[in-house]
Amino acid sequence: MALFGGKADAKKGDMLYAWTNDADLAKKAECGGAVTELLKYALESKTVDAVLAVKRGVDLYDAVPTIVTNPKDLDACAGSLHCGTLLLSKLVMEYVPKMSGKKLGMVVKGCDLMGLLELSKRKLVNLDNILMVGVNCGGSVSPVTARKMIKEKFGVDPNTVTKEEIDKGQFIIEYEGGHKGISMDELEEAGYGRRSNCRRCKLKVPRQADIACGNWGVIGDKAGKATFVEVCSAKGADLLDGAVKAGVIKTEAPNPKGLEIRAKVENAMYKLSDKWRKKDFEGLGEGRERLKKIVKETSRCIKCYACIENCPICYCVECSTKKPYLVKPGEVPPNFMFHLIRFAHIADSCVNCGQCQELCAMDIPNALFMHAQQVELEKMFGHVPGVDMSLPLLALVEEREERDRLSATGSDQIFDIFK
Ligand code: FAD
Ligand code: SF4
Ligand code: SF4
Ligand code: SF4
Ligand code: SF4
Repeated sequence: MALFGGKADAKKGDMLYAWTNDADLAKKAECGGAVTELLKYALESKTVDAVLAVKRGVDLYDAVPTIVTNPKDLDACAGSLHCGTLLLSKLVMEYVPKMSGKKLGMVVKGCDLMGLLELSKRKLVNLDNILMVGVNCGGSVSPVTARKMIKEKFGVDPNTVTKEEIDKGQFIIEYEGGHKGISMDELEEAGYGRRSNCRRCKLKVPRQADIACGNWGVIGDKAGKATFVEVCSAKGADLLDGAVKAGVIKTEAPNPKGLEIRAKVENAMYKLSDKWRKKDFEGLGEGRERLKKIVKETSRCIKCYACIENCPICYCVECSTKKPYLVKPGEVPPNFMFHLIRFAHIADSCVNCGQCQELCAMDIPNALFMHAQQVELEKMFGHVPGVDMSLPLLALVEEREERDRLSATGSDQIFDIFK
């Protein structure tokens, strides 16, 4: 058996509706359950040795990363957690070395994927060992904002909410005693809704993954019951073919009107991202005014290092912000040099994942500052981080001898000006 009624095997670029053949999984899944079923099949067929996915923790505001090796355990991960603001890319650096060359399957949102590509450029992860099942992503809501929004805008106790979803531009909740939806635009104009980095994000369909799955474009009798699947690589095509042949996934050609709607929604999302970029960056001002704002906001910093530890681009064993001759130890707030180091080292490669802002102990809008600088560099040099394997700008200024010196000394310092 093959796709589309037996005519052809899957290939890169194919788009289709897909759904699990398992009725129990279908009930738990977000729409068609294709993501969970494909990953289960990847484990069962030994395409991968383990899967890194996300499951619900103590409540629906708590998204927990989890490593699964038994296919049956993947059912517990089914469903989308829109308050799951976590980033999986850097976790791979933790897990993969311990797996010693084994294969890992992963669910990736756009930001997870962009972080992985940047790590791969730096030879910190090997994408050949990773199977990426992408999920489209319109954005996620910070758990703290979600609770506040549900209490203040929905008038509902956040602890009584049993289900949340984002559908047709609305944030919808089901709670003990009813359900309610409010338009995302209205929520965001009032300062709630998606994280600010998500509003500016332009990687809504992760086509750099092996397969991209979502709900946009599923209409008619399959609405809510099938996953929209776009095949993005030969690896993704093999996975889908295998799952179809094993009889665990069913597919059909997408409704042409659905295809049209999906393209329209995707484009509308990019326009909206441009609108938010303009608004956020203009709000920062320019030149000296922008610098003053950044200095003022970062003067709250308590040097907890969360921005560095959770950034997918920051990975150095010896971080320059810990060098006493650059940032005086024991001083809080740290000298502005602490932030300048990060700006100088990674602004060209920031993927706007939002972690440095979401997890900042002092609510400093770090992601906004870094993203604003990244976009300026992008305008100047045309380099877009996270979307392909093109090298970061800073790689271009390194000289051959410098690379040789690094390799000979094992140092991670490109220029040791104090020697
Ligand atoms: P399931 O079989 O239910 O599997 C879902 C998988 O997603 C599970 O493996 C789980 O581990 C993983 N997951 C759940 N929450 C997260 C998270 N926060 N981060 C990483 N992985 C997670 N699709 C669209 O077409 N348009 C959108 O605007 C859109 N926005 C989304 C926003 C978020 C935050 C998320 C997580 C998903 C979004 N999706 C969107 C994708 C959609 O909700 C479904 O995940 C997709 O259609 C697959 O459905 P399924 O039934 O096959 O997935
Ligand atoms: Fe989704 Fe982009 Fe936000 Fe990541 S940064 S959660 S991909 S909208
Ligand atoms: Fe993500 Fe912040 Fe690092 Fe940019 S600087 S990649 S937003 S953690
Ligand atoms: Fe990040 Fe620079 Fe520290 Fe490396 S040295 S971890 S790039 S701030
Ligand atoms: Fe400072 Fe915030 Fe970074 Fe912590 S996360 S070091 S408080 S900027």
